[in-house]
Amino acid sequence: MTNIVPEINIPEGASATAAPQASITFADFGLDPLIQKAVSEQGYTTPTPIQAQAIPHVLAGSDLMGAAQTGTGKTAAFVLPIIQKILRHASSSASPARHPIRALVLTPTRELAVQVSENAANYSRHTDLRAAVVYGGVDMKEQVAILRNGVEILIATPGRLLDHIGSKVANLSQVEILVLDEADRMLDMGFLPDLQRIINLIPAQRQTLLFSATFSPEIKKLAQSYLRTPVTVEVARQNAAADTVKQVVHMVSSADKQQAIVKVLEARTRQGLSRQCIIFTNSRLGCARLSRALERDGIKAGAIHGDKSQGERTLTLDAFKSGAIEALVATDVAARGLDIPDMPLVINHELPYNAEDFIHRIGRTGRAGNKGDAIALVDASEKRLLDDIERLMKRKLDVQPLPDIEVSSNRAPSNRATSNRTPSSRTSSVKDSPGKASDPFFYMPYEPSVAPQSATNSSNPEEKKVGIVSAKPAIGALLGGFKKK
Ligand code: AMP
Repeated sequence: MTNIVPEINIPEGASATAAPQASITFADFGLDPLIQKAVSEQGYTTPTPIQAQAIPHVLAGSDLMGAAQTGTGKTAAFVLPIIQKILRHASSSASPARHPIRALVLTPTRELAVQVSENAANYSRHTDLRAAVVYGGVDMKEQVAILRNGVEILIATPGRLLDHIGSKVANLSQVEILVLDEADRMLDMGFLPDLQRIINLIPAQRQTLLFSATFSPEIKKLAQSYLRTPVTVEVARQNAAADTVKQVVHMVSSADKQQAIVKVLEARTRQGLSRQCIIFTNSRLGCARLSRALERDGIKAGAIHGDKSQGERTLTLDAFKSGAIEALVATDVAARGLDIPDMPLVINHELPYNAEDFIHRIGRTGRAGNKGDAIALVDASEKRLLDDIERLMKRKLDVQPLPDIEVSSNRAPSNRATSNRTPSSRTSSVKDSPGKASDPFFYMPYEPSVAPQSATNSSNPEEKKVGIVSAKPAIGALLGGFKKK
């Protein structure tokens, strides 16, 4: 089978959202009918901007740097052409020798790895290609069995992959295409040495694709080292949030934020809007405590953060996806890779210290062209963080009063504050509760997006840093692989 280089115009400067490109169809890419069938079954009619731009280049064999965030459809942008390119190797033979690793996708976190592998399994479902995922934090045995059986498309977190390479279970000598997904995050998490070791084991005659939310100097250096005259495609305007997200800031003192969330959700109920939301906190302890506090307020909440076991995370995410939980309280480890396409609301319980994390957080809503709301609850002491975020996004955020909120006013009001600060019996009990103002819940050290020193020293940093795992094929994910058909 030859690779098809479609003769279509590659649009320049596409928009920042995953809204499909009306002028191009998937048929224009000349993908094999087996792939097209799988794409139609996903319900995709037209490619998103990153797909329209990247797929022809990948099919043509170019190295590629893609500036695109999760939520833009970037996974299919590389998975579909990869399947097309390695389809000629598809074999129905049971012999493992006929199923060497042809494409390797490296991701920073296990949840992203699982999601990419779900995509790969879905899009290749009508072919004889096999897709599997390996990541740290779970037993190696099942992964070893899957790798020994043979797999053409392997999605992996770097540390665990090196473990499998070390025990001679994974062999990269026949890899033709390498993808570095969320490369900026991998560098943030201290994976550079692992990446270098892995890339050195892959034949030089390969195609390399690098996806990153931003092109920092470090990312450019990585690309210079490992990519050959890459084509650059950029659909997510750098550091811009999706146009489909309506962003609002409510100035609320830290002590009143929990009640503010209750009020926001009550207001949504009154407006007939979904109460499903993801609420971001800066610390693991704060995350757990907020979740419990919301539960006490009658909100079905669940916490997801790095201290939760794999099984707990899967259960919580399952419950969230089924609607049994309406508020998923999460730390930043959950900010990337979590694929809930129709998430209607993201609430920032506090602003992240790293302004880029804010963009990743609100990127959980307004995905794939859907509309979403992002609410930031901002204490006057967080004004500097708000300024940083606005500078990064190159726009002022809309400050609005809380809906029908009654909050205490014991905090120094911000000069931006416009919230309605009527005292109430409920909030005065918050105000009066001893020690509340110094509650560590509100002042916990930030759970950093940069890996702690210990993680960098580990061969498995992802075991320490990962947050959640997509729950769709929970069993397959936990086993670390996907059985075809
Ligand atoms: P990603 O950025 O790869 O995580 O994709 C974000 C979401 O967009 C996922 O839920 C995909 O299933 C969805 N998606 C990807 N491509 C398309 C498309 N062409 N049309 C509609 N939805 C898509």
